[in-house]
Amino acid sequence: MVTKIRYYSTNRNLAGVPGIVPFKGYVSFKDAILKGQAPDEGLFMPDIIPEISLEDVVALKGAPYPAMAMLVAGAFLRDEISSDELKKIVEDSYNFTVPLERVVDRKYIMRLDQGPTASFKDFAARMMARLMSHFRDRDKRLNVLVATSGDTGSAVGEAFKGVEGIDVYILYPKGEVSGRQKRQLDTIGDNVQAISVEGKFDDCQNLVKEAFSDLSFDYLNLTSANSINFGRILPQIVYYIYAYAQLAEKGEGIVFSVPSGNFGNALGCEYARRMGIPVKRLIMPTNENDEFPEYLKTGDYEKVSPSRACLSNAMNVGHPSNLARFFALYGGTVDRLGTVHAYPDIDMMRENIFSVSVSDAVTKQTIERAYDKYGVILEPHGAVGWRGLEVYLEECGDFPLCVSLETAHPAKFPDEIKELLDITPELPQSMKDIDKRAGEPLELPGDYGAFKEYLQDSLEAKSS
Ligand SMILES: *Cc1c(COP(=O)(O)O)cnc(C)c1O
Repeated sequence: MVTKIRYYSTNRNLAGVPGIVPFKGYVSFKDAILKGQAPDEGLFMPDIIPEISLEDVVALKGAPYPAMAMLVAGAFLRDEISSDELKKIVEDSYNFTVPLERVVDRKYIMRLDQGPTASFKDFAARMMARLMSHFRDRDKRLNVLVATSGDTGSAVGEAFKGVEGIDVYILYPKGEVSGRQKRQLDTIGDNVQAISVEGKFDDCQNLVKEAFSDLSFDYLNLTSANSINFGRILPQIVYYIYAYAQLAEKGEGIVFSVPSGNFGNALGCEYARRMGIPVKRLIMPTNENDEFPEYLKTGDYEKVSPSRACLSNAMNVGHPSNLARFFALYGGTVDRLGTVHAYPDIDMMRENIFSVSVSDAVTKQTIERAYDKYGVILEPHGAVGWRGLEVYLEECGDFPLCVSLETAHPAKFPDEIKELLDITPELPQSMKDIDKRAGEPLELPGDYGAFKEYLQDSLEAKSS
């Protein structure tokens, strides 16, 4: 008999922090995914990490991606979902390819950019949407509110499109998204409503927060789909193990380099290692937001505030939200605001993790060099990853099997690629279609009264 996996809060050991009552209990995966965040504002963590046999892993060499998603997600979810249901979910989530492109020797780029919004966020968002639909309360529609400043919103919106029993409202700041992002959001349609808000990203976030704390909405089934939901971490474990199965001899060590912002992606690799994959080193390069590499160097953690605007804009994070989970896995506690309450075992962290900050100038050089030397096209996030791997190999010596992650499609950065490489990368099919899609945004002022009225009308119309 296997013990059931339960989820605890990263804040459970916090003491004496004003306004926080540590949540000492445990919840099921179902509650963790539907609630999103623990009641003490901590992040949910599994209390047991299931082990996976390398035999089973390498047996899936050459098998399609959903087969690996079954093996990995099944290890976490076996008590809460039948394998038939899970199979439907992963097959529906992963109807695109996961290319492993050889760069040189046995050094590879894993391209996680073939999903509907051409970023790795599709992997997590698509599976989370289907898991939420599975676990939702059957007699009520589930309403998801998301504030976004760009790519997350479109990944989440596309992921929920057409998913049964769920309506999604995406709030974005009118003047702060690019033309292509706006088009991507406005034209999702179906059960996904984009709302263009007169104001900034913070205003959008405040509207969502206010709706969640509005008691008059208690009768409605509101939830968030933000990046700290464990339902978004679980799917991000799978591709590391998939890469291992395709490339490694059973038992061989592997190095992964993961361009990092909020550390959710890298956390997937940390869990893959703890499930039994021999990850020799997890490389977590950042852009100029260098709070984490500085911490590994000095032992003191200080967030970067305000965060620095860099080319790899999805990684402009001065205090990564999933740092709380990394600290928890290594025996420490850090809160949402960046205050460290207990430092983790830094020696163990340094043994497993390597980090380096990559400047914008070096990011650009890397894009140029990777193309000149190997004919590989990288965009700014993937270039930070590749440079992180190069620095690691220079400092720590060569290692045979290495995989660096490309987290977005180069065609999402046409100006940078044109300037640096003088080529225009072709858009993936999913993105080409966007220009042909129809759809107008709903526009709202940035005040809560108007938003509330709109939500009430819309939610009641749909639930009646
Ligand atoms: C979100 C994002 C990242 C950063 O991932 P985290 O999980 O936040 O570390 C990197 N690259 C791209 C393209 C992203 O959209």
